[in-house]
Amino acid sequence: MGKGLTKRSEDYSKWYNELVVKADLAENSAVRGCMVIKPYGYAIWEKMQAELDRMFKETGHQNAYFPLFVPKSLFEAEEKNAEGFAKECAVVTHYRLKNDPEKEGKLIVDPEAKLEEELVVRPTSEAIIWNTYKTWIQSYRDLPILINQWANVVRWEMRTRLFLRTAEFLWQEGHTAHATKAEAIQEAQQMQEVYAQFAQEFMAMPVIKGVKTEHERFAGADDTYTIEALMQDGKALQAGTSHFLGQNFAKAFDVKFASKEGKLEHVWATSWGVTTRLIGALIMTHSDDLGLVLPPKLAPIQVAIVPIYRGEDQLEEISKVANQLAVDLKKEGISVKYDDRDTHKPGWKFAQYELQGVPVRIAIGPKDLEKGTVELARRDTLTKEFVPKNEVVEKVKQLMVEIQDNIYQKALDFRENHITAVDDFEAFKEVLNTKGGFVSAHWDGTKETEQKIKDLTKATIRCIPLDTKEEAGSCVLTAKPSSQRVLFAKAY
Ligand code: AMP
Repeated sequence: MGKGLTKRSEDYSKWYNELVVKADLAENSAVRGCMVIKPYGYAIWEKMQAELDRMFKETGHQNAYFPLFVPKSLFEAEEKNAEGFAKECAVVTHYRLKNDPEKEGKLIVDPEAKLEEELVVRPTSEAIIWNTYKTWIQSYRDLPILINQWANVVRWEMRTRLFLRTAEFLWQEGHTAHATKAEAIQEAQQMQEVYAQFAQEFMAMPVIKGVKTEHERFAGADDTYTIEALMQDGKALQAGTSHFLGQNFAKAFDVKFASKEGKLEHVWATSWGVTTRLIGALIMTHSDDLGLVLPPKLAPIQVAIVPIYRGEDQLEEISKVANQLAVDLKKEGISVKYDDRDTHKPGWKFAQYELQGVPVRIAIGPKDLEKGTVELARRDTLTKEFVPKNEVVEKVKQLMVEIQDNIYQKALDFRENHITAVDDFEAFKEVLNTKGGFVSAHWDGTKETEQKIKDLTKATIRCIPLDTKEEAGSCVLTAKPSSQRVLFAKAY
């Protein structure tokens, strides 16, 4: 059925946009580039938040909150960061509107309410946070600071797409301060690992851990650690980043601490973030032509129960069984929706739950009452089976694990089949244009070659994988010597 969804093979991008809207996850708003996240989409975000928040706390972090606005003078302090984000900044210049003297009922910006100093709407919060840390840090005893904030940020993106790239997005940003370089690097790597674990264990999305090239690095970072995922159309998606910021922000904001030996030293920093883009990643990794396929661990509804009945009496009998089943499943921590609305037919409901990616659907009809069974349908494989009533809870518990594993394995197989090693530029282009995916190739290490390859093929270096092996070779474009392969891909 798929409720008239465009097929992935016809137009992947259209399929995605339609799916986001039809599955009731989000929609475009009156504000260019900004979306409305609807309850079903927000419920997925809340599940992601809950797991990530738990993982951050388990690794010693605490949540705090910093202002939305950054005074321009603070924003410019770390030059590279400021330069990198300048083109995408929304800026507040006035703080008041007034009635338009020339047009009744209209408002104009009050020229007398001009701010003395403009405020940048945060595209990222290093500046305001490091300006604050300056007052918090005096001695080594004040370190480390391990803080995360859940917030919204604004980056004035020109080409936007629901979830994947919006002008305003929701995210978490960790900002940590350390006494030593080694400790800060370890923190940045640890958070990359947390992100990778989250992606794999909860999103069922395999990721490649790597380091960004200088060209692709976060503005103001000494190193950017990334997790890169592969979407079903063969394009890569940067799913999360963790930055080793060196002493760049400490120097810009003059944040020093007295070491144990009594020496004044600049503080070392990291920052790391994932965003509502992860919902886009989730959709593009698993979903099919019928709609969403959600991993049980993040599905807002894990089981939907639909009664199939004629008349009130039948419904009453079925509801007894269904309500008891719902209670039993909830006891096991499974989220269940018993959909006994009489406003929609069972067939409509089936299609709706399919579209919304509910992992397991249970149907109960009069025949099931007679036989003491229910019909159980898996969203991932679209298979159905009849299960005795008293075995349903165990079966569902087992399915939650099986579906989670199955879609991970499927995504992993796809990813593994889409990493192609190539040694010459013709093959490089050929793979990118036909098969897509990651291309593993030698690169001479220069920005110029990286840019040239991007200009010629639209592919960028997604990362230098952490598990890359030293291997003598020659650059796929320039034939200059290279000591390791890097991963290229066309990316979102
Ligand atoms: P950054 O602070 O630039 O490292 O960004 C952190 C993460 O945010 C990136 O790894 C992306 O996955 C994600 N991201 C960047 N820009 C956007 C955007 N416009 N909308 C949604 N997510 C984004």
